Amino acid sequence: MFCHVTKWFRRIYGDSISQHDFHCLLTPATHSSLLARRRSEMMISRVRLVAMLFAILTPLWVVVDAFFLPWPLWGWISIQRVAVSIAFWILVKAYPHSSQIQDAYRALALLFCIPSLFFLSSNLTLSGYWVVEMTNNPAIVGYTFLPFVMLAGLSIFPLTFLEGILFAAPALVAQVLFIVFDLGTLMNNSGDRLATSWLLALISGVATLAGMSQLHLMRQLNRQASHDPLTQCFNRASGEELLTIHFHISLRHQRPMSLVFIDLDHFKSVNDQYGHEAGDLVLRQAATRLREAIRTEDMLIRWGGEEFLILAPDTPIEGALHLVKRLRERGFGLRPDGSPITASIGIAERSLDDSKEVHALVELADHRMYLAKKGGRDTYVYES
Ligand code: GH3
Ligand code: MG
Ligand code: MG
Repeated sequence: MFCHVTKWFRRIYGDSISQHDFHCLLTPATHSSLLARRRSEMMISRVRLVAMLFAILTPLWVVVDAFFLPWPLWGWISIQRVAVSIAFWILVKAYPHSSQIQDAYRALALLFCIPSLFFLSSNLTLSGYWVVEMTNNPAIVGYTFLPFVMLAGLSIFPLTFLEGILFAAPALVAQVLFIVFDLGTLMNNSGDRLATSWLLALISGVATLAGMSQLHLMRQLNRQASHDPLTQCFNRASGEELLTIHFHISLRHQRPMSLVFIDLDHFKSVNDQYGHEAGDLVLRQAATRLREAIRTEDMLIRWGGEEFLILAPDTPIEGALHLVKRLRERGFGLRPDGSPITASIGIAERSLDDSKEVHALVELADHRMYLAKKGGRDTYVYES
């Protein structure tokens, strides 16, 4: 069923979107750790931006209230507006920067919570003063807009389908409850309420799609910035970031983490004999072979010209040795003359090698690769 939906969506969207891309747009479960970090940072900074905008705009409506609403009604509402503005300012000033997705969700929930509470309190206050002449009052109409503004605001966040629906749900459920329990006092007929609910659902759908498009664009830009164009492996800069993230996770949870440092043997001779283009082809081929041999949780980094680093989280030395044997059996591709490409490999594991620092672990794997070179190439070393 899910596969059918995926195919159907890809046909509509165009095949530029892969199955994995599509899953990433549906739920955050398959997001890479780098994307999760970037997205969290972006979401928090946008929450601050929106909060700042609302902190400024919310008290400005007092002028309209004062003009169209009777005293002391507009006075009560003004107090609420000031409180809302202060709450938004606190969100701007006090919410910490973070690259954790949970912190981003919390920030977004707070951003939605403040206007929701204001919506409830202002509606209760206004309904207490309900008089027939206020039906077409411009100030009152302004208060019914609030849920629309909130839901439309979802569109500026890079969200998955699931997240969009979950963040829109409270406003939609509240709207349904208002209708079912007849609490919606600012709209006096059920036709209005039905139309409002339908419009809210439509806006939620459009805002969720807009959020998904943002996420798609963000993933593409992120991929361009973090991957090497020739081999499609993680580039050195993003590789270092990934190493740091996973090293700390491994330390914190006392879990193993293996590094496999691979240097192709006599690669320069390919360039020298057959030209740089042939060398590029061999590199691309080797990267494909490596990528096909690793698990989805493992990360392949192009560390230098013909040097690759496999970061294998949650993998003890036995697992890394198993991986290396599999790599060597499958091979690293062929030279233009048809002879197999070989590689010298160094392996290091965080807990076994008792590494306290990520660069020390990389250096150890590099050193062992060098020992493999000295030992005659086409071999691997995991002790020194
Ligand atoms: P060894 O067995 O000792 O590792 O010898 P090697 O020839 O593989 O190693 P060396 O470090 O001497 O040469 C690496 C070569 O990789 C030199 C450089 O021109 C080439 N190289 C680096 N990046 C690229 C690239 O993007 N494309 C191509 N075609 N060649 C590259
Ligand atoms: Mg080298
Ligand atoms: Mg080499």
